[in-house]
Amino acid sequence: MDTMNAHTPRTGPDARPPAGLVLSGITLTYPDGAARLTALDDVSLTVPAGTVTAVVGPSGSGKSSLLAVAATLITPDRGRVVIDGTDTAGLRRAELTALRRTRVGMVFQQPNLLPSLTAVEQLQVMAHLDGRPPRAARQRALDLLDAVGLADQAARRPHRLSGGQRQRVNIARALMNEPAVLLVDEPTSALDHERGAAVLDLLGTLTRRRGTATVLVTHDRAHLDAVDAVVDVLDGRLSPRPSPLPGR
Ligand code: ADP
Ligand code: MG
Repeated sequence: MDTMNAHTPRTGPDARPPAGLVLSGITLTYPDGAARLTALDDVSLTVPAGTVTAVVGPSGSGKSSLLAVAATLITPDRGRVVIDGTDTAGLRRAELTALRRTRVGMVFQQPNLLPSLTAVEQLQVMAHLDGRPPRAARQRALDLLDAVGLADQAARRPHRLSGGQRQRVNIARALMNEPAVLLVDEPTSALDHERGAAVLDLLGTLTRRRGTATVLVTHDRAHLDAVDAVVDVLDGRLSPRPSPLPGR
C-alpha cells in the first residue's frame, strides 16, 4: 500500500526533506478570456517549522492563490509543494484530503464561524470531522481556547464575541488537528490596529510553541516586527527583503 511518503526522494542530500513547508518553482495560471492570467510566477518559498513568514503585497498580487496552492486546494501548472516532508505531487485525491485535514490549518480573512455553535463547539467540530474521540477533543478545544486567551468565553456563540475574539476562535480552530503548516490569509483586515497587533503576536507565540510552519499573507505592513521573515509579492513574483528587525 502506498504511504504518504511514497513520493519523497530517497537518495542524495535531500533524502530526508525538512519539516515545515517548501514551495519550489510554483507557477499558477487561471483562464482569462482566450488567454491565461499568471497568478504565481516561479515562486519558491521555504518556511521552517516553528517560524512565521509574512508574504506582503497589494490586492491582486497572488497572496490567496499562494495559500491555496500551499494548502493543496489548487494544483499549480508547475512546481512542487512539500508539506511536513511529504511531496504532494502524485498523491491521490483521498491522500491529499487526508494530508490537508491532518497536516494543514487554514485561517481565512472572515472567521466563518457557525452561528449556532459555542466557541468550544466550533473547535470540537474539527475533531469530529477527523473521527477523534469526543471527550479528548473537548479538552483539547478548551486548552486551545485558553491558549488564545478565551478560556472564559468557551460557552459563547459568535454573536456574543467581538471581532477580535472571533478571529481568535478561528485561529484556535485551525490548530485543533495539530497542523504542521498554518496558512493565514489577512487575519487582521477586519480588526483595529491594537487588536491586529494582538492577533499577530498570538500567531507568533502559537507558531513557536506548537512548531507550525506559518505563512501569513497580508497587504498591511503593520505589526511585521512579530514575524521571522518577510517576503514581498507583486504580480505573482516573490522578492525577499531584509528582516524587519535586523540583528534579531
Ligand atoms: P490577492 O490575494 O493578493 O488579492 P489573488 O491570489 O486572489 O490575489 O489573485 C491573484 C490574481 O489572480 C488576480 O489578478 C485575480 O484577479 C486572479 N484570480 C484569483 N482567483 C482567480 C480565479 N479563481 N479565476 C481567475 N482569476 C483569478
Ligand atoms: Mg486575497
